[in-house]
Amino acid sequence: MSDILFTNARVFDASGAQPFDGEVLIQGNRITQVRRGKGEATRSAGVRVINAAGAFLMPGMTEAHTHFAWNDQPSLAAIQMMPPEEHALWCVRVAKRYLDMGWTSCVGAAAAKPRLDVVIRNAINDGTIVGPRYLAASQEITVPGGLGDTTQPHLPQPEFAFGAIVSGPHEMRRCVRMFAKYGVDTLKINLSGESITGMSSEASQFTEEEITVCVQEAKAWGKRVAAHARSTWSIKQCVKQGIEVIYHASFADEEALDLLEQHKLEHFIAPGLAWLINTCFNADQYGLTREVTQKMGYHRELECAIESMKAMRKRGIRILPGGDYGFAWTPHGTNAKDLEYFVKHVGMSPMEALLSATAWGGPMMKMGKQLGYIREGCLADILLIDGDPLADVTVLQDKNRILAVMKDGKFHRAPPVRAARTATRWAA
Ligand SMILES: [Zn+2]
Repeated sequence: MSDILFTNARVFDASGAQPFDGEVLIQGNRITQVRRGKGEATRSAGVRVINAAGAFLMPGMTEAHTHFAWNDQPSLAAIQMMPPEEHALWCVRVAKRYLDMGWTSCVGAAAAKPRLDVVIRNAINDGTIVGPRYLAASQEITVPGGLGDTTQPHLPQPEFAFGAIVSGPHEMRRCVRMFAKYGVDTLKINLSGESITGMSSEASQFTEEEITVCVQEAKAWGKRVAAHARSTWSIKQCVKQGIEVIYHASFADEEALDLLEQHKLEHFIAPGLAWLINTCFNADQYGLTREVTQKMGYHRELECAIESMKAMRKRGIRILPGGDYGFAWTPHGTNAKDLEYFVKHVGMSPMEALLSATAWGGPMMKMGKQLGYIREGCLADILLIDGDPLADVTVLQDKNRILAVMKDGKFHRAPPVRAARTATRWAA
């Protein structure tokens, strides 16, 4: 693998500083030199020079709440009823789509079948398939009758369930151990309802005792816990019980906000606003009219979620993009809409939105500061963007504007240039 030198780039290093003109050298899978100015950097023989022609060079993005197994269909049943063979192939295709769209890291937030996420992560890591860096999740752990229990009374077999259904501490412990045996990185537990499935988003499931067992057992195996937590009680449980990743957190009251602020470096919030916004306003053709979603309570929830996120932002709590893409009205690959929503609804500046997708990606991926920055020594996950996301964050939604995607020092998509001399758009 030859070294790569990006010249003439507008470098966004994710430190929080404004971008600067500069050059970035990649050796192996690491960034080894970041140099300001348009002059000539040290060039060793054999280095491949890519003239970025002023393009915006930024770290690859991290999606904090990914479900490869969701299959862009209008219902949970359509996901669950997909046979395992087709389902695995579907996940292979989706994994590539994330990389295509600049998401070089994704955090699995539950698989629809017990081993799907693990198998896909392993296949990415051993080079069998193409995809982002990935943390694999369990199925959603739920209670009988709760979010994720899609079995019918006359068909109680677990194969018919979307989630892993447990009742009581004993079954919880067994379930966590089973997923640990399969090799997941994350245990996903559903602590609140989800109105579209019939159980209100403001309702909570599981006892404190069951949650404690889940967290204790997961930690004993060195695993992380992530929770579906829309209700007020469930958000507080996440903080009290040390559940690191909190999905949704819509109904955060003052006490929940205080708790989160006191423990802000121990948690990540991924609200998944895209699901709420598009379910409320863009899913008419799937029967989710304004009237229907109003009745389900999603309009009220959206208002509460926006207020919660605004308050969290002000308190410096980490809010990350990602969340439940993979339904018909929120297809995979459109995930950068989250950044637009952060700016539009949560009050983030485009800079804050970009940092939430980059600088916080390292700890979210459990990789500390070696990921998510354009900095010497960091892993070379790099995007070249045609445009300035700090002026218009929506450019990240357009595949044609994402000129290049590099993961771990290798191009997934090289910029459209044959050779420095014959290039048109990229000629110096
Ligand atoms: Zn989810």
